[in-house]
Amino acid sequence: MQLLDGKYVSEKLKQEITAEAAAVLATRGRQPHLVAILVGNDGGSETYVASKMKNCQKVGFKSTLIRYDNSVSEEELLNKIEEINQDTEVDGLIVQLPLPKHIDPEKVTEKIDYRKDVDGFHPINLGRMMRNLPCFIPATPYGILLMLKEYKIETSGLHCVVIGRSNIVGSPMSILMARDAKPGNCTVTLTHSKTRNLNEIVRSADIIIAAIGKKNFITVDMVKEGAVVIDVGINREVSTETKSGYKLYGDVDFKNVAQKCSWITPVPGGVGLMTIVGLLKNTLASAKKEIYS
Ligand code: NDP
Repeated sequence: MQLLDGKYVSEKLKQEITAEAAAVLATRGRQPHLVAILVGNDGGSETYVASKMKNCQKVGFKSTLIRYDNSVSEEELLNKIEEINQDTEVDGLIVQLPLPKHIDPEKVTEKIDYRKDVDGFHPINLGRMMRNLPCFIPATPYGILLMLKEYKIETSGLHCVVIGRSNIVGSPMSILMARDAKPGNCTVTLTHSKTRNLNEIVRSADIIIAAIGKKNFITVDMVKEGAVVIDVGINREVSTETKSGYKLYGDVDFKNVAQKCSWITPVPGGVGLMTIVGLLKNTLASAKKEIYS
């Protein structure tokens, strides 16, 4: 087994992004600028947003965090998004999910100007992705593609099984792996909680992409010898072993599966780090007006 090392790849790509951000500053007179909105104080969301902001600073982007209490109204949030949409000094805008129940995430997603939608969740970006047109690709699937590319993993003609069909990971991932692109050209099976014979289907996969949200869900008996295994899951459990008080687990039983597969992403240190790179690359592309003018 060989490791698909998110730490190594993300650091390498962040060096390239840093150089490009400096060039943007030199030519446009300002840094690429990402704005993040965080509502409430969910522990996981706090950690993810803090990491995104820290990484922006590392690569020479400007970052702004706007925080609201859980009690913020949908109207106030939508008005703020509109204000940022109009701000010519902002290249990318993300709203950290999940949102409180009284706020409709669909309205929020659609309110963000698709030209600043660096999370790639807006229907225009998803539609353009379907048609293989230039767009912001959702950050996690984008990060996975960058990882597969870096390690020159051959995907063409292989059977890729995606477990989980969310709008932010599983569904876009399945489309991207089936596209006529590199990485891509897979025969894709998209599975979910209603799938029958899931174990059998996963066992037939050359590439497994697990995005379920259940610790150690993919066990060794579900994995074909030599398969490539991408673990998207981040399952947080309280722990006395770590400084943060939490320990992270993937959706894959890493210890046992690692002995049978050809390549595997660790958790932590895999897809999570690449998601940040996807976000940074989208923000940079927006600052450079590479996708939309
Ligand atoms: P969602 O909860 O939105 O989706 C989970 C999916 O898993 C659903 O499609 C669900 O099926 C499916 N599922 C649940 N149980 C089963 C089962 N028993 N058999 C087959 N499929 C099942 O999750 P997300 O896509 O948002 O996230 C998935 C995981 O990835 C989470 O752990 C999350 O924290 C992590 N994540 C990690 C990121 C990273 O950067 N590494 C980024 C985003 C997410 P159904 O649709 O039928 O309910």
